[in-house]
Amino acid sequence: MITSGKVVTLHYVLRDSESEIIDQSEPDQPLSYLHGAQNIVPGLEIALEGKSVGDELDVTVNPEDGYGELDPDMQVELPRTQFEPDEELEVGAQFEMEVDGHYEVATITDIHPDRVIADFNHPLAGQTLFFSVSILDVRDASETELSHGHVHGVGGHDH
Ligand code: ZN
Repeated sequence: MITSGKVVTLHYVLRDSESEIIDQSEPDQPLSYLHGAQNIVPGLEIALEGKSVGDELDVTVNPEDGYGELDPDMQVELPRTQFEPDEELEVGAQFEMEVDGHYEVATITDIHPDRVIADFNHPLAGQTLFFSVSILDVRDASETELSHGHVHGVGGHDH
């Protein structure tokens, strides 16, 4: 049974509100995560609590339990000089920028000759997420996995 400190292996399909598939596990590459360590969005983690191998479930996750609400303050104007002069910019492209000492992913939403508008919201912020999940395996996490807060080995970190 899935509780804190278990490593859960599952297949998932993630759809948006139009039933379009946004993301899914590869047939030969299920997702493994450490339950209770915030490796996955809170709404999905809560729904999986207490479930067992063989269970299949559909989970609807609201933005506040997913990737958060869209925050208008996360849309910023950057001077064009922030980018290399010959760098080809296009709307929808993602780039990484150092913010307060760590790297954040942003999406370009508009381009002007002198400035670029970038959105630092998670691409799935503001979206209701529809997961279909089937649970393949549940095992105890190792001491190392618990101290690292993530899964090692197949489907996880290999360090
Ligand atoms: Zn580790």
